[in-house]
Amino acid sequence: KTIIDAHNVTKTYNPEKVPVYAVQDVHVHIEEGEFVALVGPSGSGKSTLLNMMGGLDEPTKGSVIIDGVELTELSENKLIDFRLHNIGFVFQAFNLIPVLTAKENVGFVLQLQHMPKKEREKRVLSLLEEVDLEDKIDSKPGELSGGQQQRIAVARALASKPKIILADEPTANLDSKSAANLLNIMAKLNKEENITFLFSTHDQRVIKKARRVITLVDGKVDSDVQQTPT
Ligand code: ADP
Ligand code: ADP
Repeated sequence: KTIIDAHNVTKTYNPEKVPVYAVQDVHVHIEEGEFVALVGPSGSGKSTLLNMMGGLDEPTKGSVIIDGVELTELSENKLIDFRLHNIGFVFQAFNLIPVLTAKENVGFVLQLQHMPKKEREKRVLSLLEEVDLEDKIDSKPGELSGGQQQRIAVARALASKPKIILADEPTANLDSKSAANLLNIMAKLNKEENITFLFSTHDQRVIKKARRVITLVDGKVDSDVQQTPT
């Protein structure tokens, strides 16, 4: 079953002045349960494409269909609601809130959904267990390592049981051990809960773990290959 269908997607910044063709006529179909790395040089359009696939940015041309729903046809409120229930983000732009504890950062989304406190606490604990951080429940981001913070971000992205997790350079700034740890958790969630992962990366060690690698060059798909993770 196709879960992400980017059809003929183009993003042009600054069209009236000096246009920047960030993404040009990209076609990508991703099936439910895939584990996909999006790679390419800096400026090749990876973030722009992820933003459009997550409904954070609108294509200049073309359409993004997530689980059968065309994002451009949703009103702003419907889109916010759709994102909240269907897509988890591990993005630089959605950093953890420094004044909140791990528990509060992860529970925030559930609070927005008016989940009762008891149920929320139970769910937050099980999410933090999934990323092996149940012992850091009361720690604030500043008290945690980079790898631990990223794992909290993954737990937060999982809170609303999304079918898809989009991650923009999730291992940037992590040492090898922390990067491997994060990837193992992502791979486990992919395998055991059939969550579709699409993550941009520069990191060779991360690319090796993907089952499919899509390479962008100058805003276009340069190659799209299946591989056996090592
Ligand atoms: P990557 O994530 O692969 O580094 P980006 O998607 O960030 O690439 O950027 C693709 C191109 O679009 C780059 O040339 C970048 O400078 C340009 N770009 C990205 N965001 C904007 C923006 N908000 N306004 C104008 N140009 C942008
Ligand atoms: P991870 O694989 O989760 O990133 P690390 O190997 O980075 O873990 O960290 C190992 C231990 O060092 C952890 O128990 C963590 O609490 C501690 N630690 C690492 N960096 C920091 C930091 N900046 N502040 C507080 N503790 C840290």
